[in-house]
Amino acid sequence: KTPSDDFVIDDELINGIFKPRKEFSHKGTYGKSILIGGSYGKIGAISLAVKSALKAGSGLTFALAPKCGVEILQTLAPEAMFIEGGEKNVTEINIVDDAIYGIGPGLDTDLLTAKALIQFLKNYSKPLILDADGLNILAQNPENLQNIPSRSIITPHPKEFERLFGKTQNSFERLDLAKNKAEELDIYIVLKDHHTQVITPEKKVFYNITGNSGLAKGGSGDILTGIITSLLAQKYSEEEAGILGVWLHGKAADFAAEKYSKESTQPTDVISELGNVFLELN
Ligand code: AMP
Ligand code: MG
Repeated sequence: KTPSDDFVIDDELINGIFKPRKEFSHKGTYGKSILIGGSYGKIGAISLAVKSALKAGSGLTFALAPKCGVEILQTLAPEAMFIEGGEKNVTEINIVDDAIYGIGPGLDTDLLTAKALIQFLKNYSKPLILDADGLNILAQNPENLQNIPSRSIITPHPKEFERLFGKTQNSFERLDLAKNKAEELDIYIVLKDHHTQVITPEKKVFYNITGNSGLAKGGSGDILTGIITSLLAQKYSEEEAGILGVWLHGKAADFAAEKYSKESTQPTDVISELGNVFLELN
C-alpha cells in the first residue's frame, strides 16, 4: 500500500468530475432512476430518496413502493412515477430496462420483502445502490452478499456496516475491513460517518470533508441514496457518483446549516439546498 491510495475529496477533484448539463439534450439524456423502498409508516424515507434523485438531476424518476404510499409519493413528488410493488411493503420487484436502481430506504426487512430482494439480486447484474434495509436484509443471510452485482455501491452507516461484516475495534480496523470487502466483493463501499469514506474495489479511499452534525438525524442517509442513484443514472461512473454524491450531500447540508443552524436543519432543507450547490458548480 502506498500513501497515494488515499485522497481527500477537494474542489479540484469535484470540478474534474462534475459535468454541466448540455443544452442539446432531453430527459432521456439524464437517465432513469428507480428508488425501491418504503413500507407502512416509512413512506417518508422513500419519498426523501425520490425527491433527492429529482433534485440531483435524474431525467426520469420512479418510486417502486407499496400501494399504501402512492398518494403520499405522488403528492410529495409529482414529478416521479409510481410503480406498485406490494400492499403495505414491497413484495415484488420487476426489472425495468436501462434503469439504475437505488434500493433500501424505508424498505423494511419483512420476510416477503427479503425474498423479493434476494430473488431480484440473483437475476440482476448491473451496478446498483444498496442502502438501509436493503443492507439489513443481506446482513440476515451474509451468503447473499455474493449476489450484489459487481461494481455496485453500498452505503452503510457504522451500525449497518457492523451487521454486514462484523465488529471492529476502531475506525482504522473498520476501514481496513471495508477495503478488503470492497475488493473481495468487487463493490464500492460508502462508509458513512462524520468524514464519509468512499472505498473502491481497487482499495482506493476518498475522504469527504463536507457535511456537519446537522445531518445526524433520521432521513439524512435516504437523501444520499437518492443523489447517488441519480448521478449513476446520469452516466457518471460508479467512482464518480460515489465521490460527487457524498460531496454534494455534505455541501448541501453545510449550506442548510448556515441558513437554519445545525439543530434545525431538516433533511428536506438539505434537499432544497442542492440547487444552490449546483449553482456554485456551474
Ligand atoms: P443515515 O444514518 O443512513 O441516515 O446516514 C446519515 C448521513 O448523514 C450519512 O451520509 C452521514 O455521513 C451523515 N452524517 C451523520 N452524522 C454526521 C455528522 N456528525 N457529521 C457529518 N455527517 C454526518
Ligand atoms: Mg440510513
